[in-house]
Amino acid sequence: MNLKNHISQIISEFSYKVRSKKHPDACICYQQNKPCHKMDDLNCFLCYCPFYDTSKEEGGCKRNCKDGKWFYSEKLPKGKIWDCSDCTYPHEKATVKGILEEFFNNK
Ligand code: SF4
Ligand code: SF4
Repeated sequence: MNLKNHISQIISEFSYKVRSKKHPDACICYQQNKPCHKMDDLNCFLCYCPFYDTSKEEGGCKRNCKDGKWFYSEKLPKGKIWDCSDCTYPHEKATVKGILEEFFNNK
């Protein structure tokens, strides 16, 4: 199997529709049949976004994505935290494909 086929197979296996059927215990969203984002073809490969800035306690987005936003609360150590709940970027097939291509090309 060539690299392109591997990538398309990974993308296919990690689609919400496939993974929730094959691995129902892997995420509470599968068990409750409630995807974490409302979108046509949610992909779970980048469940944790690689662009989230973990170097700061309040978080942030390394690509300055306009779909993220600050959540403010006096209870938080920094008074705010970066909230990605409205961002679908890491769950789009094109994003996963681009990241996998970059990863394999750098190997
Ligand atoms: S992206 Fe993560 S949290 Fe969202 S449905 Fe998939 S596995 Fe669950
Ligand atoms: S705003 Fe989007 S791209 Fe940025 S860290 Fe959050 S999920 Fe990732």
